[in-house]
Amino acid sequence: MARFVPALAAALLIAAGVLACGGETSSPAADDPVDAEPASNGHSDPQVADLNDPVAQRVEPFRIFDNLYYVGIRWVSCYLLVTTDGLILIDSLYGDHIDTAIDGIRTLGYDPADLKYVLVSHGHFDHVGGTARLQDAYGARVGMTAADWELAERPPDNPDWEIDVPVHDMVIADGDTLELGDTELRFYVTPGHTEGVLSMEFPVRDDGEEHRAFLFGGVGLNFEGVHRTNLYLDSVARIRRLAAEEGNPIDVNLSNHASMGRIFERGEQLASRAEGDPHPFVDPEGYVAWLAELQRNAEKKLVGERELAGE
Ligand SMILES: [Zn+2]
Repeated sequence: MARFVPALAAALLIAAGVLACGGETSSPAADDPVDAEPASNGHSDPQVADLNDPVAQRVEPFRIFDNLYYVGIRWVSCYLLVTTDGLILIDSLYGDHIDTAIDGIRTLGYDPADLKYVLVSHGHFDHVGGTARLQDAYGARVGMTAADWELAERPPDNPDWEIDVPVHDMVIADGDTLELGDTELRFYVTPGHTEGVLSMEFPVRDDGEEHRAFLFGGVGLNFEGVHRTNLYLDSVARIRRLAAEEGNPIDVNLSNHASMGRIFERGEQLASRAEGDPHPFVDPEGYVAWLAELQRNAEKKLVGERELAGE
């Protein structure tokens, strides 16, 4: 059984005593055009010429936790979250790469027909481009924030970024939760990279041992303006507070561009992990250090944005 609980409804339920409070629920290299998203999200940079090539971009799907797999490509992540009541895809890739995700789901032994939700970290083509097809083919429900629905539905600045626009579906707001089978996700709106970046946290299990995974939905600094940079800094500061929660630190960093969270490097360490070794994705101190680096990079950007604005 699936249950999507908008924060407002949850607050009303809590007020009515119906729902227990609390609910159920590297190097970031953000300025490197290969490691981050292409400059201005475009394809003109020769370094990123192979971004759309499904062969060059192909990655064998791999298991990260008992309930989480990587089914993305080299430059954009896509995660498969397995629950007792169906599958959730986090981001959807785009163009020919959608087949890589679908093939990956099958290779891992799951049926794409069991996809119940596709949750989109933000409305740029590389994350949202596959949603219409997944809605169509499998009846998966698509969720993103109101601002990024608007972004995804708007004609793009560059025709290269055109996508099949999904049917307007779930609008996710800050504080909402989604429960599917044994899994609950909690959502945070963390703007900056776009106006409606969606971040999410959910439990992952390593041989049954639970960890708190967090996906910051908009790491890249390829956006403009003092206001947006301040929003980004506020978002990072907020995640830093969440990460440091007493007794419940965020200990797993999942990035929506693999290189921003050293996903493949950790994946290789995981593949050669010996019995009793720590899980390479479980790293609460590393997460705090990573967030501090994001903050420093954004503070540098803010100086430049202020100069540009004549402040
Ligand atoms: Zn983006």
